[in-house]
Amino acid sequence: MESISADHPAAVYGEHRAGGVFSRSRLLSATPFKLIMPDVFQYFRWQDVVDILLVSFIIYRTILIIRGTRAVQMLIGIAVLIVIYFGARELELLTLYWLLRTLLSSIFLIIIIVFQHDIRRALTQVGKTPFYKAQDDIILTIRTVAAAAQYLSERRIGGLIVLERETGLREYIDSGHKIDAVVTKELLVSLFMPTSPLHDGGVVIHKDRIQTAGCLLPLSKNPYINKRFGTRHRAAIGLSEETDALIVVISEETKEISLVQDGKIETVANEKVLANQLETIFVPRDTQQQRWKNWFNKS
Ligand code: ATP
Ligand code: MG
Repeated sequence: MESISADHPAAVYGEHRAGGVFSRSRLLSATPFKLIMPDVFQYFRWQDVVDILLVSFIIYRTILIIRGTRAVQMLIGIAVLIVIYFGARELELLTLYWLLRTLLSSIFLIIIIVFQHDIRRALTQVGKTPFYKAQDDIILTIRTVAAAAQYLSERRIGGLIVLERETGLREYIDSGHKIDAVVTKELLVSLFMPTSPLHDGGVVIHKDRIQTAGCLLPLSKNPYINKRFGTRHRAAIGLSEETDALIVVISEETKEISLVQDGKIETVANEKVLANQLETIFVPRDTQQQRWKNWFNKS
């Protein structure tokens, strides 16, 4: 039989278990990790760290993708079956055990069939790199806002669209009505229709989502603002003086589309010019680090 030295953690642990007398110094020299897992650290390789990190990342991404979907309930169902399977084995309920063993032996096939849509969606997302994904979202939002501005301007409908950047706009968001929906031209236009109960005030957009509509923004107190600008434009200028937000204003009087930033207002000729200006402001600021952050925080 293989002998174990007296200082070996297993020996110390055995002595402790047997209720034997053991010295304080010997116990202290055997760290808790060594006591519990004497072998794990001995065989730990750098590949294992990479391996664990990759598996954790895959599990994390999978949870993000399936969160809130039907797949979660199915996974819970499968987990319950596994618990019953082990219960049946322990209690020697032979028929139930046989039935579940047969079922669970093809669990991978079942998962692939049941989750085929989710797997397809997940694989498509893996194909999209985080850099393109974050950039795609911003560009799509910008183009949608520009198209909505053009539409509103052509029909003489006033609009006030706020694009949130680094500064949080919570206090203004809270003054409006919560929307929390993906930005689309149709939704933006509907919100500013004169018959819409939410048409007064500004719409706040964060990334690719409309947060709120009907927000009250702070009016600028700058006495040098051109007198032809009324409260809609002054509210846009006021917000841009206090935050780094970009604001698109559509005038119902003049049909002009204006871009407001850092307390300055500038009229833009059309949808295309507006989209280009917004892109030059937004896209370079979106650093690679921020793009990774966006991707990790994606919900
Ligand atoms: P337009 O050129 O479209 O007429 P304007 O700058 O002349 O704009 P007003 O005619 O005063 O401004 O526009 C009034 C509208 O502006 C209100 O109906 C409301 O929707 C919006 N508005 C006014 N004050 C605020 C504010 N503090 N925050 C957000 N929206 C505001
Ligand atoms: Mg007016």
